Amino acid sequence: MMKSMNSCDYGHDTPEETRRLPIGGDAGVIVCQEHYHAEISSRKQAAVERGEPDYRGYPSWESLEVYEPAKG
Ligand SMILES: [Zn+2]
Repeated sequence: MMKSMNSCDYGHDTPEETRRLPIGGDAGVIVCQEHYHAEISSRKQAAVERGEPDYRGYPSWESLEVYEPAKG
């Protein structure tokens, strides 16, 4: 049996769970847990560069909505 694969917006498929990380408005990215951390790190870096190191816009991985790919 083939295990179904999920697509991570960082450009790879993974058998791991993916979740939807809101990026503002109705937009969001679908990321695996590894790339969730990469995304949060880049947001923190961007906040520091804007002079907002205390910015608190980081939802926890656990709080994110699990992304269910459309069944075909
Ligand atoms: Zn990924």
